[in-house]
Amino acid sequence: MVKLLATIEHAVKKPIWDCRMCGQCVLHSTGLTCPMTCPKTLRNGPCGGVREDGRCEVRPEMRCVWLKAQTRSERMPRPWREEFDDLRPPVDGRLRGTSSWLNLLTGRDRVTPQGWDAGEREA
Ligand code: SF4
Repeated sequence: MVKLLATIEHAVKKPIWDCRMCGQCVLHSTGLTCPMTCPKTLRNGPCGGVREDGRCEVRPEMRCVWLKAQTRSERMPRPWREEFDDLRPPVDGRLRGTSSWLNLLTGRDRVTPQGWDAGEREA
């Protein structure tokens, strides 16, 4: 059942968002732009290498994922639009290939590394 759910999620999300099955989906807070499609898999905004024309320094044929995310997030309804600036925790590599839907239901996607606290960092 767990494997079947991951297979269904991948079948739905890969063609639409190029989902990489990180297991901790944040699409709602990134303007429905998958941050794992960033060549550096950055989850909290662009690196310092965005070219002047907005293209990626690693793959110049593509527009920076985070520039796309920002534009798209402005069209998202509240409160998702406001979550764009939230600090997202580091992605947990152990969840790769698992269903983010299931991880959302069980709360597993909200387990953060020991010592990591977005609230403290934002204060
Ligand atoms: S954030 Fe993760 S689960 Fe969501 S679309 Fe991207 S790779 Fe898939």
